[in-house]
Amino acid sequence: MANALLQAEEHVLSTLENDGTRRWLYPRLSAGPYWHARRIVGFLLIALFVALPHLQMRGKPMILLDITRREFTFFGFTFLPTDTLLLALFMICVFLAIFLLTALFGRVWCGWACPQTVYLEFVYRPIERLLMGTRGKGGVPSKAVPGWRRVVLYATYLVLSMLLAHTFLAYFVGVEALSRWVRQSPFEHPAPFLVMALTTGLMMFDFSFFREQLCLIACPYGRFQSVLLDRKSLIVAYDRNRGEPRGKLQKNLPIVDAPTGDCVDCGLCVKTCPTGIDIRNGLQMECIHCTQCMDACDAVMKRVQRPPGLIRYSSQDAIAGKPQRYLRPRVIIYPVLLTILLGIFVYNLSMKKSFDVTLLRNYGSPYTVGIDGQIENSLRIKLVNRLETPDEFEIRFLHPGNVMLDRDTAIVLAGRETRTEPILVTVPREEFTFGRLAAEIEIRSRSGDRRVVTCQLLGP
Ligand code: SF4
Ligand code: SF4
Repeated sequence: MANALLQAEEHVLSTLENDGTRRWLYPRLSAGPYWHARRIVGFLLIALFVALPHLQMRGKPMILLDITRREFTFFGFTFLPTDTLLLALFMICVFLAIFLLTALFGRVWCGWACPQTVYLEFVYRPIERLLMGTRGKGGVPSKAVPGWRRVVLYATYLVLSMLLAHTFLAYFVGVEALSRWVRQSPFEHPAPFLVMALTTGLMMFDFSFFREQLCLIACPYGRFQSVLLDRKSLIVAYDRNRGEPRGKLQKNLPIVDAPTGDCVDCGLCVKTCPTGIDIRNGLQMECIHCTQCMDACDAVMKRVQRPPGLIRYSSQDAIAGKPQRYLRPRVIIYPVLLTILLGIFVYNLSMKKSFDVTLLRNYGSPYTVGIDGQIENSLRIKLVNRLETPDEFEIRFLHPGNVMLDRDTAIVLAGRETRTEPILVTVPREEFTFGRLAAEIEIRSRSGDRRVVTCQLLGP
C-alpha cells in the first residue's frame, strides 16, 4: 500500500521506472543514412583517438597531459606550471569554440563525436546485439540467451575496456612509458598497473552498466544546453505542425483523407532513442542529438508514403514557422571574442623563449647603504629552463651600465628546472632620481635566447 502511494503516476525520468528502479534501455537500431554517416565518422574518430598519443609534432607528442609533472603538451607545445595564464587563455578559447559550435549546430559534439557516444553506439552496443540477439527488430535482448554468450560478452567487454584504458592512459603517461609497462611484470610498476586496472574497471562500469547515465547525470554539457542554445540553434526537432494530431493509420482510409497529422504514433522514435526520451515532447536536456529518431521516423514516413523530415535538423523558431536568422548576437560575439583571445594566445606563444624569467624584490628593507656609500638592492631572480636539456644563463645590466652584481658566474639549470636565486645589486648613489631608478636587465642563455626585463631599484 505504502509502495503504491509512493509510486509516481507517470515516468519522471526517461531512465527511471515508476517505482524508482532503473529503467534499462535497449534502443532499437535504426540504420538509416544518418546512422551510416555517423558510423563512418565514429570509426574515423576511434582511429584518431588511438593514433593521437602516437603522433608527434616538433619532436613532442601531439597531446600529452603529464599531471604528475604538471606539464601539458598540445600540438608540440608544452605548457609548464609557470604558464598558467597561457593555459587559461587556451582553455577559454576551447570553451568559446564549444559555445560557438553549440550556438550554431546544437549538441553536434554529443551525437557525432563524443567518445562516450562513439564507443557505446559503434563498438559496445553492436557487440551486445550480436551476442545477445534482439527480440524481433527491437533492441531488447532475446529471452533465452545461453549463459556462455553472457560470459563471452563480458570477456569481450573486458578486453575492449583494457584496450580503451591503455589508449586513455597513453594521453597521460605517453606511449613510451606505456609500452615499457606493458612489457614488464606488474610487480615492477605496481602503481601504474593499479591505475590501469582501475581505468579498465571504470570503462567496464561505464560501457556495460552506467551507459546513458553518464550523459544524463555526470556530464555537465547537457545541463548547460539551455543557456548555450537559443531558439535559432540547429537541433533535432519534431515538427508539431506537421505531425499533430498524431494517430494510428486507419485501414481502408486513403492516407490523404486521414484526419490526423503525419505522425502515425508508431513510437519507433522513442524505441530507438538511446536516452529513452520522446522527442515529440520538444527539446529536452536528455537529447544528445544522435539522429536515431530522424532515421527511424524517415523510414516510417517512407512506408506510409509521406515526405521525410517529420523529425529533422531544424531550429525551434523554424519549426514554429518563424523566419530563420543565422546572424544573431551570440553568433557574432563568440567569434569576435574567440579571434581576439586566439590572437593574444598565438602572439604570446610565439614570443615564448627557451626560458622564463621573473625578477622579484627580496624581503627586508628596500635598500641598504654600503660602506663606500653605494646603494645596495637585494633582488631575487626566478629562472625556468623550458628545455629538456641543461642550459646556462648570464645576467647583465643594460641600464645603468655601472651596476655591480654580487655574482660573476652564470646560473646553470637542469632540463625543465625552476630555480630562484638571490642577487645583490650595487649602484652609485647619483643614479637615483627621487629615490628610484628604472633598471634594465639582460639575461642570455647558452642555447642562444635573450630576454630583457625591467625593474625598479630603490635608493635614497
Ligand atoms: S517515428 Fe515518426 S511517426 Fe513514429 S511516432 Fe515517432 S514521430 Fe511519429
Ligand atoms: S531524441 Fe532523437 S536525437 Fe535525441 S537522443 Fe533521442 S534519438 Fe537521439
